Order: sequence, then C-alpha cells, then structure tokens
Amino acid sequence: MKTGLFFGSFNPVHIGHMIIANHMIQYTDMDEVWMVVSPQNPLKNKASLANNNDRYYLVQLAIGDNHALRASNIEFSLPVPSYTIDTLTYLKEKYPSKSFCLIMGGDNLATIEKWKNYHILLEHYDIYVYNRPGYDLEKYEDNPRIHIVDNVPLLDISATFIRQALKEGKSIQYLVPEKVYEYLTEYNIYR
Ligand code: ATP
Repeated sequence: MKTGLFFGSFNPVHIGHMIIANHMIQYTDMDEVWMVVSPQNPLKNKASLANNNDRYYLVQLAIGDNHALRASNIEFSLPVPSYTIDTLTYLKEKYPSKSFCLIMGGDNLATIEKWKNYHILLEHYDIYVYNRPGYDLEKYEDNPRIHIVDNVPLLDISATFIRQALKEGKSIQYLVPEKVYEYLTEYNIYR
C-alpha cells in the first residue's frame, strides 16, 4: 500500500490543496493520501493560526467520504517543532505494512537542503513533486527518488488569501469546499 503524505498547516484547507491530493491519487501509483496537519508551535504562536483541532476538523470536512484521502493529526502528539524525518520514522514504525512517500510543491523542494537529515530523507523516501510558478524542477530530474508529476492543474490561491478575505468580510465560497465554507462562516473563524 503506497501512502502519500501531504504536509501543511492547512490554515485553512482550500481547493488548491484538495486538487493536489486528488491528482496524486488519480495520476500516480499512490493508493491513498494522508493530509498531515502541522501542529501549532507553542514557541512561535502565530496569532493567525487557527487551533489544531479546528484545522484538523476542516481537513476532515474537506475530504468528506473520499476513502482515498485521510486527515492525520499524528504530529499533534509528536515533539514540536515536528521534523518531517522524525514523523516519517514514527509512521514507518507504527504502520509497517505501508510504504510512505512525500508530496510537495516545487517551492518546498527548493528548500529541502535545509531540512533536518535531508540526505537520509532522500535516501529512503520517494518524493512526488509538482511544479509551482517560479520554481525550476530541471535540476532534480536525474534524482531517482524525485518523481516529477507533470500537468498538475494549479490554482493560484493560498490560505493567506482566504484568511485576509474573511477578515475583510468577503465571501470565500467556492475557494474552499462547501462544508469548510459553512463551518468557517458559522464559527466566525479568522474574522
Ligand atoms: P499560507 O498561505 O498560510 O502559507 P498555504 O495555502 O500555502 O498557506 P499550506 O498549509 O502552507 O498552505 O500548504 C500545504 C502545502 O500545500 C504546501 O506544500 C504548499 O506548497 C501547498 N500549496 C498551498 N497552496 C497551494 C496551491 N494553491 N496549489 C498547490 N499547492 C499548494
């Protein structure tokens, strides 16, 4: 069973994230994708970061009954800040029958050399990368661990844009899944 891990703060989750998660299921050999919600870092508590459980619940709402996708709060119980390599080591031990790989945008791949134990990461895990405007993936093409996923439909939206829109009292309908929209509106999150 090949499981793709898509990490993010999902603050909040939006259609851009869901397009990526679904695309990986449809067009790669991944059997499932886990959307791993990053915890709040108590040392750098960002005022604009909604609490862990809201962000996690919103990812669950976004996924709905799609069995190929799963929300994961695994990092909430790991030491903060969470390093991808530590989370992977933990998951590998906890789910020995699964084969984990990573999903990331070219923007994240560009910084990978700064990640904790990145060479170990690249030695043991496959990384599926989709391009994002302004990032050149050519230099990674020969790395056998890096799988470039082409033709991913990209939407130029970000959680920052959504938070700002909510703060300004604008509607964010259609930018997030319908149930996420209803929850954010009902509980006045990010206002
Ligand atoms: P923020 O605006 O708060 O920084 P974000 O929208 O970029 O948030 P994250 O939770 O940081 O969302 O994103 C999780 C992952 O999704 C990251 O790897 C990021 O590169 C990717 N991502 C974010 N927005 C998009 C998008 N519109 N299309 C494709 N990938 C995206």
